[in-house]
Amino acid sequence: MARRLILVSNRVAVPDTEGARRAGGLTVAIHAAQKLRDNVWFGWSGEVCECETPPPPTVITRERRSFILQDLPATDYQEYYNGFANRVLWPIFHYRVDLAEFNTVELGGYLRVNRLFADALSSVVQPDDVVWVHDYHLLTFARELRALGVDSPIGFFLHIPCPPPDILLTLPQHADTLGALMQYDLVGLQTERDAANLGNYFEQSLGAIRRGNGVFERDGRRVQLRAFPVGIATNVYARAAKCAARTQNVAELRDSLGDKRLIMGVDRLDYTKGIPQRIQAFGHFLDRYPEWHEKVTLLQVTPKSRTEVREYADLEHEVSALVGTINGAHAAPAWTPIRYLNRSFSRGMLAGMYRVAHVGLVTPLRDGMNLVAKEYVAAQDPDDPGVLILSQFAGASEGMEGALIVNPHEPDAVSDAIRTALNMPLAERQARWQAMFAYLQENDIDRWAEDFLSALMGTRHSGGFREGIWRLFSGGAAAA
Ligand code: UDP
Repeated sequence: MARRLILVSNRVAVPDTEGARRAGGLTVAIHAAQKLRDNVWFGWSGEVCECETPPPPTVITRERRSFILQDLPATDYQEYYNGFANRVLWPIFHYRVDLAEFNTVELGGYLRVNRLFADALSSVVQPDDVVWVHDYHLLTFARELRALGVDSPIGFFLHIPCPPPDILLTLPQHADTLGALMQYDLVGLQTERDAANLGNYFEQSLGAIRRGNGVFERDGRRVQLRAFPVGIATNVYARAAKCAARTQNVAELRDSLGDKRLIMGVDRLDYTKGIPQRIQAFGHFLDRYPEWHEKVTLLQVTPKSRTEVREYADLEHEVSALVGTINGAHAAPAWTPIRYLNRSFSRGMLAGMYRVAHVGLVTPLRDGMNLVAKEYVAAQDPDDPGVLILSQFAGASEGMEGALIVNPHEPDAVSDAIRTALNMPLAERQARWQAMFAYLQENDIDRWAEDFLSALMGTRHSGGFREGIWRLFSGGAAAA
């Protein structure tokens, strides 16, 4: 029986559905993995049912891909997803301990849904299959699957940052939840910093023994930790941006600017993205450098997210008020300093807008990777590229040294970087862009998926086997 790849994530995006159209970075990453093997993608359907017990999962098959979708009872959804995952794990992993709201009922819901998913999947997994689990919703999933007798290689990738041990220790009952990660064979993280943080936690707080090469051992189990920075489909994205820049919508944006420069920010409305700090820094830039009045516009695209969590609703009001204050103070009859778009755009439209923007302003307070930073670079015109300003706290800053790297908490530094970017000569813009684009081509999303799966197979073959074993025995990439 050929090895299949079983992908597991909180949400599943079935092609040609609304869910797929709204797909984010995780979906793009999973699509790259799907190209490698026959596969099954398992997870929550996005549907909440008014039932006591979860219904059996639904199976959809499309060519060589199967999708197994599990509906969730309303209580499970509330406790597992809105509760423990988004109100406890999300803030703590983003260093915002102050925003975590823990209760044991929601932890119970989280553990229950991980068990439910494992139960539903255990009858599907065959001995030769390889399982790849995604993100913080499923920390304890492998433990549940192992308890049901599954011995396949199981890998886990954390798409969000991993803080140092002192912060992880604030998670109530951390050893139970985070200790369950030891049941995976491989845990992938976005950056070297994240991998080092989790390794230190394993060693210092769980008493695991460090064996070298990122391997940690406890109670006879070994898990390997490694950084695999998520990339984008660089060449595809660059081509899409070139085409999109010729569309009418993007031409209208360009015409609306006249000879003004465009700075662009694109972020889900989330407190980790540093949107209020960025708006304030732009206001500070206008205060300090009046020569730029009426010559530059900030276009901030901010789709709503997680509206059921209170902090997100508060943030929406805060950002709207700040934009109003700065526009009110600086606008002229024919100039609005900040255009704030509280909605989402298609990936194609965004790519075209990035290409028009002279500056990409990406200043999250903390971000696992930040794909917008990479997409902005890939979308640029090589003959006249824009400048990326990037937070030192975005995972993307590891490897993207051609950006102007800033501390998003420092308004002087951000406003100076804006000025430097706007004044940067063409030769310097090109040199910085070329270095970043070459990095993105070398480290694209296909390589990310291949590297992870090769390393996962490598964890089961010490001695005579090398990491490339997955490629050697997989029969090569197949058409998606
Ligand atoms: N995105 C989009 N439309 C929008 C805003 C964002 O398609 O209106 C995409 C964006 O192109 C990127 C992803 O959503 O691929 C956001 O990923 P990122 O890693 O930057 O942030 P996340 O939202 O995952 O924290």
